[in-house]
Amino acid sequence: MGTASAIPTKTRNHAAIVLKIYDRTVLFDCGEGTQKQIMEAQVSPMKIDDIYITHLHGDHILGLPGIIQSLAFRGRTRPLNIYGPVGIANLIEHIKNLGYFAISYELNVHEIMDDDVVIYQQNNFLIRAMKMKHTVTNYAYKVEEIKQPKFLRPKAIELGVPPGPLFGKLQAGESVVVDGKTIFPEQVLGPPRIGVKLVYSGDTIPQENMIYFAKDVNVLIHEATFSEEFRDKALENGHTIAKDAALIAKNANVEQLILTHLSNRYTTSEVLEEEAKEIFEKTVYAEDMMTVIVENNKEVKIIKK
Ligand SMILES: [Zn+2]
Ligand SMILES: [Zn+2]
Repeated sequence: MGTASAIPTKTRNHAAIVLKIYDRTVLFDCGEGTQKQIMEAQVSPMKIDDIYITHLHGDHILGLPGIIQSLAFRGRTRPLNIYGPVGIANLIEHIKNLGYFAISYELNVHEIMDDDVVIYQQNNFLIRAMKMKHTVTNYAYKVEEIKQPKFLRPKAIELGVPPGPLFGKLQAGESVVVDGKTIFPEQVLGPPRIGVKLVYSGDTIPQENMIYFAKDVNVLIHEATFSEEFRDKALENGHTIAKDAALIAKNANVEQLILTHLSNRYTTSEVLEEEAKEIFEKTVYAEDMMTVIVENNKEVKIIKK
């Protein structure tokens, strides 16, 4: 929903990505203007369950006060979870006291303490955070779909397990006892299945850790603030140039690279996309309101507005 860096432009808003996964709606970063962008993306802000903030620079957080207040005005009752680096709890406290409004819902703030940690997990997917180097603490986030191994029903019957609740136990990874004989889940479950994976870098210098973090993902959304010409400036400001992001994508063997966080010195992302493509062909520079569809065993689909 937003693909600009520090200063937004007429066509690019501050950083924000909305992810719909299973029954959850998740926001990554919440730059200024995100409220309107969400509506344009035809996602109800009321449906957002969790917000993951990469770091506390204005271009990634200035949309929070507006969203938090609007949700209160709309009478939200369902809790909202906000994750981010240390300092986010204090920031949210300030936001609660900004302007005159009463919050109608539970705001759960989670400060990430570790360098590499799973911060959210449910049956179908998990979210991991890994610290990356920027001028302030920045976390990259990784979404990993969890595919339960296939339950081999005929095999279970063959082993003497009667269809019914014992099947459920085995499926859940518990062993069961039938006629004094123990049946282990490994005997009746197929090989583990790999789900889709996605990484969003936030703001970072190019770094080795990212190759490890984004290994074999379907989609890597990596910041590329500048082109080659401004390599020194990029590093100085804790950013990555398009070419270096492409090199990471190549070394990490990702399927699709999406560049974002364009400096306002560019009127078009063309140069950056071209430079990156020389190294990694499957690169696209993001545009506001671009949609990306990631499905198992299917090529990543990109729909520009
Ligand atoms: Zn930024
Ligand atoms: Zn930043």
